[in-house]
Amino acid sequence: MQQFSVAEMARQQLLKAAKAIKLPKAIVTVLGCPKRVLRVNFPIQMDDGTIRCFTGYRCQYNDSRGPTKGGVRYHPGVTEDEVIALAAWMTWKCALVDLPYGGAKGGVICDPLALSERELEKITRRFTTEIMPVLGPNKDIPAPDVFTTSKTMAWMMDTFSMFAGHTEPAVVTGKPEVLGGSKGRKEATGRGVMITTRELCARINLPLAGARVAVQGFGNVGSHAALFLSELGAKIVAVSDSSTGFVNADGLDVPGLAACIERHRCLAPYRGHGRKVSRDVILYQDVDILIPAALENQIRKDNASRIKAKVVSEGANGPTAPEADAILEKKGIHVIPDILANSGGVIVSHFEWVQALSGMYWEEDEVNQRLEKKLIASFGQVWRKAQELKISLRTAAYCVALERIASVYQYRGIFP
Ligand code: NAD
Repeated sequence: MQQFSVAEMARQQLLKAAKAIKLPKAIVTVLGCPKRVLRVNFPIQMDDGTIRCFTGYRCQYNDSRGPTKGGVRYHPGVTEDEVIALAAWMTWKCALVDLPYGGAKGGVICDPLALSERELEKITRRFTTEIMPVLGPNKDIPAPDVFTTSKTMAWMMDTFSMFAGHTEPAVVTGKPEVLGGSKGRKEATGRGVMITTRELCARINLPLAGARVAVQGFGNVGSHAALFLSELGAKIVAVSDSSTGFVNADGLDVPGLAACIERHRCLAPYRGHGRKVSRDVILYQDVDILIPAALENQIRKDNASRIKAKVVSEGANGPTAPEADAILEKKGIHVIPDILANSGGVIVSHFEWVQALSGMYWEEDEVNQRLEKKLIASFGQVWRKAQELKISLRTAAYCVALERIASVYQYRGIFP
């Protein structure tokens, strides 16, 4: 059930934070609309010989702090509105964790689970070609998102390189390591969810050892967050993906579930310990920590009162609608906002870009240490801002991000 347009949701969050820090009206005007939205339609010959037309988007929301950065999503529900909202969130996220990037996002309307690998490769290569004029290591740098992987990034990088006439590893991040991908990138977003959750739990005296955790969306982000939290002693008692859900009050076998995903791309064939349930009940489990790690608009006005968790750690982008935010706040639930909780991915993407540009590659320990340091510092800033202004962590995160972007405009001005 979609109550809010997601772009409207992003706009409301921006306005709320702008009010809290009295952001100048001119800056709110500038940040209220995307710089560029490219829509492309392109034909693909399918495996059965028929021709189908696909639609894709790339939105570059704001590039005042540097080249734009953001994932590419393959999903039947991709819309221009969604891509704009996701690109706006990328802009705030990069500013919040102080990366020299603006925000972007892209997507192709398709059902990747119903497409062959050959068809996915053709879609990726053609989509890359269509958006090529706005791509580049100093312009806009894609990364994986929902239903895209390191393989998708390898196809994008190869296609871009073929047209450039030289190999260009810095044009995408989240690549396989043999192509210049960073060690630790695949796990980075889930690791970041774990780090920010750990930082919050330490401040609210919620021990992670024995804490019960539910994960909605057992994909890249959700499965890694579950793995890292279980390493700290948390018990993963409920998980779901688009195909099904599993619960077990004694704790699920997280590596077993991850192996099922690796093999079958979904949880439906999983036969380990745990009771099979509808995917939609996972949000309402009696747990300490809920990690929505699927899609946006999952916690809304109509279901927010059913959330029992003490902490919601937003692995996904935009899982909580603004009206639901108010309900969670009233219930005393701590929400670690998406732009902080899932920023580990773009932080290590930045490390990957730096490594590709310099040709010097780092050991995994170094990547993880730098990630940890940046996230602890960012969490601390947001926490202090929230305490100082008596506002939610989400509004505080927006305040830190918007102040940073606003100060760039102070020096750059508005051209011409
Ligand atoms: P993914 O494709 O690996 O995983 C998405 C998962 O969500 C899949 O398991 C899918 O089956 C599941 N899902 C879809 N609809 C569902 C539903 N209604 N109920 C339950 N599960 C459902 O994608 P991902 O990269 O893990 O991304 C997940 C979220 O995290 C997205 O919002 C994405 O924008 C965000 N994110 C990803 C990264 C990253 O580095 N991959 C970084 C930051 C944010």
